[in-house]
Amino acid sequence: MNIAFLGLGAIGWPMAAHLAQKYQLAVYNRTTARARDFAARRPARVAETPRSAAEGAEVVITCLPTSREVEALLAGSNGLLAGLRPGALFLDCTSGDPATSRRIAERLAEQGIAFADAPVSGGTNGAEAGTLTVMVGCDDATFNRARPVLAAVGKRIEHMGPVGTGHAMKAVNNALLAVNILAVGEGLAALVKAGVPARTAVDVLNASSGRSFVSEALVPERVLTGEWPRTFRLALLDKDVGIAGSLLQEADVPAALLELTGRLLTQARAELGEQADYLEAIRWIEGRAGVEIRG
Ligand code: NDP
Repeated sequence: MNIAFLGLGAIGWPMAAHLAQKYQLAVYNRTTARARDFAARRPARVAETPRSAAEGAEVVITCLPTSREVEALLAGSNGLLAGLRPGALFLDCTSGDPATSRRIAERLAEQGIAFADAPVSGGTNGAEAGTLTVMVGCDDATFNRARPVLAAVGKRIEHMGPVGTGHAMKAVNNALLAVNILAVGEGLAALVKAGVPARTAVDVLNASSGRSFVSEALVPERVLTGEWPRTFRLALLDKDVGIAGSLLQEADVPAALLELTGRLLTQARAELGEQADYLEAIRWIEGRAGVEIRG
């Protein structure tokens, strides 16, 4: 089977690497040098344009920052739509927004192309291990076609409902992650200022009911070490919280906690910059509190 993969970013690259082991792969990246670098290490054809990537592909997979970039790649004489043929399957692994995906799905359907939103969770470690969770939004027939392909990158492939529900699930998950990061950061900053050694605070938290993925996995690896590796941009988490906020608004669910989280993350993003890692939100809290959580 011929697959086209567009967007060799932090998470796209390791996903494409798994696909290259099983399928004939064409790769497109906005910065072509990165696609060439990929093809030097894995069996893949470098496509200079989205159209060229799509030509001959039965499946097209996108993994871009937002749905906006995905929609932009469709149009124009060198766009995906110019290269895609009827009967193809379009899987969008971007953490995108439901409304744009519904619009994209309608546009593709006019050309006989099936669409699923298929965002992933599990981070760059999960992508490298091929153990991502994939949240899929589409009809049953499309899901049955998508599942074997997505199994090359993920361990749990879950059909959430119609187009857009994969994005909705992903946005709510990441919104909960964001709430937790800020809450853990504030709590630990206060404990360290009160004289509790940071590592002791984290150990006791992780033996108690306030523990979470953030306190158990992320804080020991990144905050206590002060290493702040860059795996998932804070700017992208901020985008996800915005998508979740819109979702709650449309569903008429009061969203005070999420609105506050969104405001804080947007402020942290403005101060730390577009390349900062998401856990650096805790470094930002440290700066505001005048304390470091290390141990
Ligand atoms: P990165 O910022 O690392 O990479 C973004 C990719 O999109 C790059 O290939 C970039 O190309 C390309 N791109 C950016 N703007 C455009 C554009 N205007 N036109 C065409 N291509 C463009 O992002 P990630 O790989 O981290 O994230 C991708 C998606 O996956 C996001 O929606 C994110 O929320 C989601 N995600 C990320 C996770 C992670 O741990 N990193 C975990 C789960 C989901 P170029 O090389 O030219 O900049």
